[in-house]
Amino acid sequence: MAEFTMELNDEQKEVRDWLHGFAADVIRPAAAEWDEREETPWPVIQEAAKVGIYSLDFYAQQYFDPTGLGIPMAMEELFWGDAGIALSIVGTGLAAVGVLANGTEEQIGTWIPQMYGDANDVKVAAFCSSEPDAGSDVASMRTRAVYDEAKDEWVLNGTKTWATNGGIANVHVVVAVVDAELGSKGHASFIVPPNTPGLSQGQKFKKHGIRASHTAEVVLENVRVPGSCLLGGKEKLDQRLARARERAKTGGERVKNAAMATFEASRPAVGAMAVGTARAAYEVALDYAKTREQFGRPIIDNQGVAFQLADMRTSIDAARLLVWRASWMAINGKQFTAAEGSMSKLFASETAKKVTAQAVQILGGNGYTREYPVERMHRDAAIYTIFEGTSEIQRLVIARTLSGMSIR
Ligand SMILES: Cc1cc2nc3c(=O)[nH]c(=O)nc-3n(C[C@H](O)[C@H](O)[C@H](O)COP(=O)(O)OP(=O)(O)OC[C@H]3O[C@@H](n4cnc5c(N)ncnc54)[C@H](O)[C@@H]3O)c2cc1C
Repeated sequence: MAEFTMELNDEQKEVRDWLHGFAADVIRPAAAEWDEREETPWPVIQEAAKVGIYSLDFYAQQYFDPTGLGIPMAMEELFWGDAGIALSIVGTGLAAVGVLANGTEEQIGTWIPQMYGDANDVKVAAFCSSEPDAGSDVASMRTRAVYDEAKDEWVLNGTKTWATNGGIANVHVVVAVVDAELGSKGHASFIVPPNTPGLSQGQKFKKHGIRASHTAEVVLENVRVPGSCLLGGKEKLDQRLARARERAKTGGERVKNAAMATFEASRPAVGAMAVGTARAAYEVALDYAKTREQFGRPIIDNQGVAFQLADMRTSIDAARLLVWRASWMAINGKQFTAAEGSMSKLFASETAKKVTAQAVQILGGNGYTREYPVERMHRDAAIYTIFEGTSEIQRLVIARTLSGMSIR
């Protein structure tokens, strides 16, 4: 087990500086354009693939870093560049984590490379859990997966919504109900391979922020996938369902469902994205406050402005510490006994919303225009308290974990 450390080692610092360079030189200059275009920034993803940032190797290296700091450090730097473009670069990672968390070695080796493609032909992947009537309430999911034993195929039917890269992905990871009586314990995750008939993109959403990231409905109409596309395999699913049925009868210990395993692993990473956006807005505000003069002196000469900056930086550092702690715990197999993953996501996402709003205020009229990046950062930051579990759901998870009671 790696000791918890707040200091990046030399190798990590080198990677951080390399990522920062890419974020500053490639992502940040393209941010305003792709935000206005509201399209997936394929040329930027391709550039990231060419230098090795958009690749399974890079992601795996960070994911398995024993200090746990690889992923949060990478997320912070890329999202410092721009949240919408960075989500287009790392969105595939959520689907990849879905496979890493629940798939067999063979499934990991087969599907994750197809999620990324290669530098000459980049691909993206989508993780599809949310539905129109099942957002926070995952147990209300209606998409069904029925096993056709004669053909050893699963047949998927339903509508997914809010899927990042939904419909444009090469590989879709779809969570579906296999046993409706078990609620969220009766869910399983499936790979839908490239060009599978029956899968189509529904509505593409026009969003408030992270507009360079594609978000859409995914419609599944009699989508047939081979038995080998059930993540973890049939035997493991049957055993898990049997245990869940037994526990439902006897009221025993809770069983984790497939989507939850993905979210638990990814929450600190979302916290790190929020830290990146918050830090970016804080830096713009600090520079602006030092150079903008009113009443014959820089506005930072006023405690009213300087204290805001002090609070912004304090919250950002506190958020990063919570994120790093949760990431270190996750990679070292430490149980989140106080819902530390949720804590990190809750605090970092609320920090990003608050800090970006403060940055807009410090820039005054300029902060309210698209001439300055804090306006976009403020719109982008609003997503962090919504996706991968809203702030209210994080509080629910934390309160339930601390109290051991099923608070509603
Ligand atoms: C840009 C974007 C990208 C996304 N990407 C993906 C993706 O790639 N894959 C995917 O599967 N999903 C994705 N999502 C979906 C996202 O995870 C959901 O939007 C989120 O879980 C909330 O669900 P909902 O929108 O249905 O809100 P609802 O669940 O309807 O919640 C509405 C409000 O009610 C509150 N609320 C609900 N229940 C409770 C409760 N018990 N106690 C207190 N408050 C409550 C919520 O906190 C929220 O404020 C994405 C969403 C967006 C906007």
